Amino acid sequence: MNAPLETAIEEAARLRGCLNDLVVVMAIPELWMGSEPPQIISTSLHVLVGMLHLDFAYVRMIDRDGRSPREFVQVPGQPELTSQASEITEALNRSQGDDYLKWPPNARLTLGGAEFSTAQIRLGLLGEIGVVVVGSQRFDFPSRSERLVLDVAANQVAIGLQQAYLLHEQKRIAGELDKRVAQRTSELASANEELAREVVERRWAEDALRESERASRLIVNTIPGLVAILSPAGEVEVVNPQIVEYCGRSLEELKQWGTSDTVHREDLPRAMLALMQSMASGEPYEFEVRLRRFDGVYRWFQVRGRPLRDTDGRILHWYALHTDIDDLKRAEEQLGLNEAFLAEGQRLSHTGSFSWFVDTNDVSFSEELYRIFEFERDLPVSLGLIATRIHPDDLPLLAEKIERAKVAGGELQYEIRLRMADGSVKYVHTLGRDANHPDGRREYLGAIQDITARRLSDEALTKAGSELAQMAKVMSLGVLTASIAHEVNQPLSGIITNASTCLRMLGAEPPNLDGARETARRTIRDGNRASDMISRLRALFSKKGVVAELLDLNEATREVLALSSSQLQRNRVMLRLELANDLPPITGDRIQLQQVVLNLVCNASDAMADVEDRQRLLIVRTERDERDHVRLTVLDVGIGLQPHVAEKLFQAFFTTKSTGMGIGLSLSRSIIESHHGRLWAGSNDGPGATFAFSIPRDQEHAADTTSIEGDS
Ligand code: ADP
Repeated sequence: MNAPLETAIEEAARLRGCLNDLVVVMAIPELWMGSEPPQIISTSLHVLVGMLHLDFAYVRMIDRDGRSPREFVQVPGQPELTSQASEITEALNRSQGDDYLKWPPNARLTLGGAEFSTAQIRLGLLGEIGVVVVGSQRFDFPSRSERLVLDVAANQVAIGLQQAYLLHEQKRIAGELDKRVAQRTSELASANEELAREVVERRWAEDALRESERASRLIVNTIPGLVAILSPAGEVEVVNPQIVEYCGRSLEELKQWGTSDTVHREDLPRAMLALMQSMASGEPYEFEVRLRRFDGVYRWFQVRGRPLRDTDGRILHWYALHTDIDDLKRAEEQLGLNEAFLAEGQRLSHTGSFSWFVDTNDVSFSEELYRIFEFERDLPVSLGLIATRIHPDDLPLLAEKIERAKVAGGELQYEIRLRMADGSVKYVHTLGRDANHPDGRREYLGAIQDITARRLSDEALTKAGSELAQMAKVMSLGVLTASIAHEVNQPLSGIITNASTCLRMLGAEPPNLDGARETARRTIRDGNRASDMISRLRALFSKKGVVAELLDLNEATREVLALSSSQLQRNRVMLRLELANDLPPITGDRIQLQQVVLNLVCNASDAMADVEDRQRLLIVRTERDERDHVRLTVLDVGIGLQPHVAEKLFQAFFTTKSTGMGIGLSLSRSIIESHHGRLWAGSNDGPGATFAFSIPRDQEHAADTTSIEGDS
């Protein structure tokens, strides 16, 4: 009877103990509140070891993050022994395999030479959290109640771990959330800032736009031009006050410009056409029209229109600017007129103008110059092209002039011949000045005159002059010869007739002596008559034929020299005039005296024709001479007077020239003598000869002049 009672009592005590244990185990989670898994496990193991008097308790926990399993060991009286954990793991793996899910609920385990009864309890429904292994050296371990306590404890641990995990997850998510919120908040804050900035900027932009619109309006309203804004179809929409003021018309009136007289009638069709073309093509327009001012005066305007397009390229408006160009237009017209005048002037004077840039040799010709050079109008002019027109003999002269202008600058002046395509020759005179172009380059500006006509008439004049001089001589001779012939011919023919009659009478059978005597007498009579005739002629020639007039010898001399100047130039004779200022007038025949001067000057020029080693100097001098005479001297540096020449100078028909007549000097002497004067010649100290005449001054006025001179 005692044994079953005892057993029952023991059993009851065990049950109580078990219940106590269960209560403790159930209370364990209170200890874990807020703990992390390692604390939960170590607290649980600690309680189990103590409660069930275990020799060890071991937990292998599978981490949710998939990291390697974590192991915990609890041995009585010792803190956690991690060193033993690996020992236990090894023993378990060795005896029961690696996969703890396949481990049996109870097993025997040898550890450190001792035998243990072990119980394995999975953590989690399927053991996904891990496994708890507890061991005791007691052989009957675990009893049923111990197993129960272990299962409940393992369950609690699993719940605790799950809660801890959930808590952990919650915290993590909360942390994550916090982070996201913080990030979003800062994103929002910066977005906010951006927005605030944009708002400010937009306000600025709006202010700027308003300001720019104001400025634009100001510009449009103050611009020195008339501005109109047109619709895409070309209707006037807006105009600036200047248009209203200029035209003296309202906007409404201006809108009708196409049918009013705002635009000049003659310009209206052109303006309409230009506008219509632009509206159709969308291209800017530009034209000139006359617009009516408020007072009815039309002034020229330049009209320029540009389209304003939107971002798609559609035309929103046309902006048209009208600029007053009336003054400019008039200036242009005036300029055109001036240019036309200039061109006409150049054409009339056969003078063209040119410009030559020394450094680049750029040459430009006026229209008249193109005509003179007979170049095609649009041919670009160059020095090379010009050279093709220059007479080959004058090319070196041109080259020298160009070179000198380049090196030394200064005035450019020369006469040159052109040879035209048809072989004809033109004479041109060039005059140029070195000027500085506004851009700093050296430029020659000048004029070229076609002097061909003048040249040819000069030559003709020279020829005529020398022919005249020659003719004067020949004429004098001719007149003389004719009068001699006329006067002497009659008695001579009488002499011949009488002489031949006389011969016939003497030769008759018988000779008619009386008749012969008579005819001989007549012959003598005619001979005397002829001789008288000659004497009379000489007397007439030497004394008569003088047309006396009061004359200024200086002036008469100047006239002669003007006539012979080109001949002297051609003979390269340098003329020096030394005419006395106080020369008194003389009385005489102007033409005859001029003939004398011309003779002397021509002879002097002829005498120097072969002189090359010195300048061909000719001096013509007038002065007062003694005894109330005036003297004219012609002095040359020519061949001079050989003694045999000096003797015969004044003899008629004496000449040393192949084309000479030998009558000039004898005639001159006759003329001077008929003026009561004297003509003579002499050799110079140096080369050449001097011829001079001296004639009395005008007697009638001599007293007056003297008295005036006396007063002075
Ligand atoms: P022509 O000029 O036709 O020969 P002139 O009677 O005028 O006739 O001159 C006669 C000559 O006198 C000339 O041929 C020349 O030999 C000489 N004679 C004239 N003037 C000069 C002079 N200035 N120098 C040298 N010889 C001169």
